Amino acid sequence: MTNHGSVWDKNTAGTEDPVQLKKGAHSMAKTEFTPSPNFIRNIVAEDMKSNKFGGRVMTRFPPEPNGYLHIGHAKSICLNFGLAAEFGGLCNFRFDDTNPSKEDIEYVESIMADVRWLGFDWDDRLYYASDYFEQLYLWAVQLIKEEKAYVDSLSADEIREHRGTLSKPGKDSPYRNRTAAENLDLFERMRAGEFEDGALVLRAKIDMASPNLNMRDPVLYRIKKESHHRTGDKWCIYPMYDYAHGQSDSLEGITHSICTMEYEDHRPLYEWFIEELGIYHPQQIEFARLNISYTVLSKRRLLKLVEEGHVAGWDDPRMPTLAGIHRRGYTPEAIRNFCERIGVGKAESLVDMQLLEYCVREDLNKRAQRVMAVLRPLRVVIENYPDGLVEELDAVNNPEDSSMGTRKVPFSRVLYIEREDFMEAPPPKFYRLAPGQEVRLRYAYFIKCVDVVKNKITGEIEELRCTYDPETRGGGAPDGRQVKATLHWVSASHAVEAEVRLYDRLFTKPNPSDAKDGEDFRTFINPDSLQVLKPCYVEPGLAEASPGSSYQFERLGYFCVDSKDSRQGALVFNRTVTLRDTWAKIMNAGKTG
Ligand code: ATP
Ligand code: MG
Repeated sequence: MTNHGSVWDKNTAGTEDPVQLKKGAHSMAKTEFTPSPNFIRNIVAEDMKSNKFGGRVMTRFPPEPNGYLHIGHAKSICLNFGLAAEFGGLCNFRFDDTNPSKEDIEYVESIMADVRWLGFDWDDRLYYASDYFEQLYLWAVQLIKEEKAYVDSLSADEIREHRGTLSKPGKDSPYRNRTAAENLDLFERMRAGEFEDGALVLRAKIDMASPNLNMRDPVLYRIKKESHHRTGDKWCIYPMYDYAHGQSDSLEGITHSICTMEYEDHRPLYEWFIEELGIYHPQQIEFARLNISYTVLSKRRLLKLVEEGHVAGWDDPRMPTLAGIHRRGYTPEAIRNFCERIGVGKAESLVDMQLLEYCVREDLNKRAQRVMAVLRPLRVVIENYPDGLVEELDAVNNPEDSSMGTRKVPFSRVLYIEREDFMEAPPPKFYRLAPGQEVRLRYAYFIKCVDVVKNKITGEIEELRCTYDPETRGGGAPDGRQVKATLHWVSASHAVEAEVRLYDRLFTKPNPSDAKDGEDFRTFINPDSLQVLKPCYVEPGLAEASPGSSYQFERLGYFCVDSKDSRQGALVFNRTVTLRDTWAKIMNAGKTG
């Protein structure tokens, strides 16, 4: 391979591994890595050894269909499906659909599509908590009969007031000692639709003085006269998530019921249900949820961004949703790899967005075809190149993978180069094009700038006049003279017009959730997270690029054809990720002055 000079080398240098950078130099090859610690894997391995569940491993991924999945969910999906596969077990897919007012069939469908896209398959093991509504009801009846549950007539506000605080015990409801017969009658009539929303609830009878607030007679059922996306109008009472979740796991024979840390305090309650009902007992294990810098991973917050129009939808490429990063060009391989690398622990942490981006680059570097595209075009006329002549030059599709072959790129007298690759009065180390300065055009010739044409009124540079050296075809000079820069380019009359969308971080602060009084995460929305460039010019070979396909635009980054807005004749590209982390560079430059 020819040496393309320092600027070129800098820009194409594969990728930097933030993990390697942080931990200092070690000789780990870029494509392999040792799995990060995963304490749940160790627990499952131990349980297999001790035959705790008869050698069975049964996990599940249990989303609530009240929003799109985000990359935090990917961690949970990879963990649950991954452990099942690793230990020869199975992973169920279950919708915990107990709250019809927040749920929607759109969410159900997107969630399934996203899990499939990530590369996981649940075969025929698709379940819904709503399939268990009848069983859950019967169990509630059982608890009532055993005087472990009662119907309460307090309002939601009164229940809250009675609950007490962490430092103050709660107070018993005056309805706590209704007889089983009375409770049964009321509960049946709740189900029959005799009462309005909020008039009555069914509560567990546990302990209003428990130090664990979850144990202070939690609500099991509320009246909600709403249609459910699956059960229609069959029910007007719905089980609370906490009442449905553990029993659903039990019904499915889940061995390792893996969930995030905030459910640690709910575990005693789930165990109370299981023990009082005398049913199979899964083992709950909590792990720390994933947080990533410069974004938010909470469906509630993401919904706000969508509803308030800060983004164009759940699948906006700036969103950390799986739909969003999919559309942006992130690959399932990269995300799975990322999830493996971050490991599984119990301590809250904020994972650096750079690690995710690194994983994306690493994967696309292997698979993305290289092409040339000019985002901010500057016209170049090669004065000594014959008018009407077109040469088809050979270009390498992927230096990482010779099996991807080569392609032809047309070269002619009028080209576009990147505006920022030219400076009229360059500083000393600017090796790209400047008056009198010679550079290499990738796969083509050396050119030299001989004149600059400006707009007479605005003074803006409109065109460069250059000459080329016919002896340098392919990129080397027979006389051995060197140039320090290699530029990408497209032939003006052959190039295809395109719109290119550049994305930046959605938030300006590493942890947008860290907000003072009067602020919230929306205070830190980055107003410049989207930049639309038009017209840009891409190689003619991209005219028929299919939606979703990924390319490396040489020297610029990885881009993919937008799957929603791109049309033949009106191509739209998303920038997936830059080649290197320009953000980190800017931040560091800021720090060192
Ligand atoms: P959110 O807070 O975004 O609404 P959630 O926990 O309410 O998330 P669910 O639909 O209940 O969302 O999540 C399904 C599974 O994904 C649960 O087991 C949950 O623990 C897990 N999960 C959700 N967010 C994360 C995260 N950030 N990191 C790891 N796992 C997560
Ligand atoms: Mg939840």
